[in-house]
Amino acid sequence: MTATLRATATAPRTTRTRHRNLQAMLRDRERQLQDSLRRRARTRLADGRGDGLDEPELSEADVQDHIEVALIQMKGETLERVRQALARLDQGTYGNCAECGGEISEQRLRALPFAVRCTACEALRERGGAREQRSASVTVFRSVFSDEFGS
Ligand SMILES: [Zn+2]
Repeated sequence: MTATLRATATAPRTTRTRHRNLQAMLRDRERQLQDSLRRRARTRLADGRGDGLDEPELSEADVQDHIEVALIQMKGETLERVRQALARLDQGTYGNCAECGGEISEQRLRALPFAVRCTACEALRERGGAREQRSASVTVFRSVFSDEFGS
C-alpha cells in the first residue's frame, strides 16, 4: 500500500518533465518547419517567374515548380502532424505505444516524433518481418538456384 502510494506520488513529476521535454522537442520541430516554409514562400515570390519564358522553358520551370510545390506540401503536412502531436500531448495521448500502451522513450521520439510503437514492440515487429523476409529470400534463392543449375 505504501509502495503504491509512493509510486503514484512520484509519477506526476516524471510525467511533467517528460511532457515538458516532448513539448520543447515538438515546438522546435514546428518552428523549424515554419521557418523553412516561410523561406520557401519568400523565394517563390522573389522569383516572380512566368513572365519572359517561352513555351519549352516553361515546361522545365513547371517541373521545378511541381517539385517545389510537392516539397512545400510535404513540409506543410509534417507541420500539421507536429501540431496534432502537440494537441495529443496536451490530451496525454502522445508518445504512448500502440501495442503495449507503455511510454515510448524520449530518445526514440526525438529521432521519430511520429513513432507509434515503443522500441521493444517495434523490435518484435521487425523480427517478425525479418523472418518473413528471410524465408522470402530463401525462396528467391532456391528459384535462382534451380534456374542456374536445375536444367
Ligand atoms: Zn510497446
